[in-house]
Parts: sequence; structure tokens; C-alpha cells
Amino acid sequence: MSEYNQEQSKTIQMVRNHLKTLSRSEQTRIKTRIRSYLLFRKEVAEFLQHHFSELCTQKCYQNHYSACCGREGITTFFADVLVNVLMSSEKETGRLLQVLGLSDIGAKCVYLGKTGCLWRIKPIVCEMFLCEHARKTVFGRDPLALKEWKRLRLRNKRYTWPNRPVLFDDLESCFIRAGHSSTLMYFHNSPGLLRVKRLAAKKRETALQESHRIKPLV
Ligand code: SF4
Repeated sequence: MSEYNQEQSKTIQMVRNHLKTLSRSEQTRIKTRIRSYLLFRKEVAEFLQHHFSELCTQKCYQNHYSACCGREGITTFFADVLVNVLMSSEKETGRLLQVLGLSDIGAKCVYLGKTGCLWRIKPIVCEMFLCEHARKTVFGRDPLALKEWKRLRLRNKRYTWPNRPVLFDDLESCFIRAGHSSTLMYFHNSPGLLRVKRLAAKKRETALQESHRIKPLV
């Protein structure tokens, strides 16, 4: 098994096993926490279905080109795994583990099945990726769609860009507190993301100090 597949497999198993130890109400608490993110994902999926489905199916999927699903080409965040396992059936999660264990290493992403991506809620990096051809074709003829896409990208940042407290970081912290670790916990081990968090924390602290320094007028 490649290193990439091992990382993925270990994390999926760890999440699945940990979730099994939680009570129904604890699982519901996590589901409540990700509710708004799931709504966001639903909106993105509807947007892509409406504007890109036909083009992507014709251009890439039908001829098995699937350029955006290259082998080991995507970053999967720990939160991606958690959200997906949480919302998937045991059978669906088992299928992911099964393909990760196959020795036949093709040129495409290990998760690309005959009918598309095997994830129920695919990684956010995949969901938000549009190739240049697709962008030019759709947004070139529909500026309103481009405007909507920009809005969705901004919303995505609210869950995934740690210049403020974000869900993806928070979900990692939950599992770390429970004694788990994963190489996919990039919000706690990626130098780039840690730097963003440090700078943002410093900025917040400075702003707080400034606000204390400002004396009320009355
Ligand atoms: S996870 Fe799914 S969408 Fe992402 S590259 Fe793999 S097959 Fe494609």
C-alpha cells in the first residue's frame, strides 16, 4: 500500500472506530456542529450540477479522461474524512477502505469508481476545483454564475481558512483532545496553516489591546 493510501486508510479507520465509541447524543452533537457546512455543501453541489454537470460529463467523464481526479493529486483534510464517514453508511466507508487496500495502482485517484467519486461528501478541495476550460466556458457566457461562484468560495473559507476559528480546525481539535492524531490534521501540523493561525491570533490580540487602550468619551 502506498504511503498516501496508508495515511488515508489509517485516518478513515481511526475516525470510524472513534465514532463507534460515541453515544448517539455525542454523534448528534457533531452532526449539529457540521449542519451549516452540510448546507453549504448542498448549495455548492446544486450550483455545480446546474452549471457544470453537462460540460464535465461530456468533456471529461464520458471519455474516462477525468483530469481533475489524478492519482494522489488531492489534499484530504482530516475534517473531510470525519464529515464523510459520519454521513456515510458502514458499507460506503468499507468500500473506501477496500479500494485503498488494492495493489493495482492506476493513474487515477484511488477513490474514482465506475460511477464517479466513491465519497458520499467528497473532499472540499475536489468540490471547489474547476479546471480552466470549465471556468472559461461557463463563466465566459454567464457572469452571474461567476459572481455566485465567488460568493461560494468566500463561504468555503469560513469553514476552511484559519485566519479565524474555523470548523475544519475545530473538528481536528476535538479528536486531538480525545487522544487521536493523524497526518491529515493539517490545521495542526502544516507549517503554512499554522503560520496563518499564528498571524491571525496575533492580529486579534493586537486589536483587543487597542480596544482596551481607547478610553470612552463619557
Ligand atoms: S476524491 Fe473523488 S473527486 Fe476527489 S480526486 Fe478522488 S475521485 Fe476525484
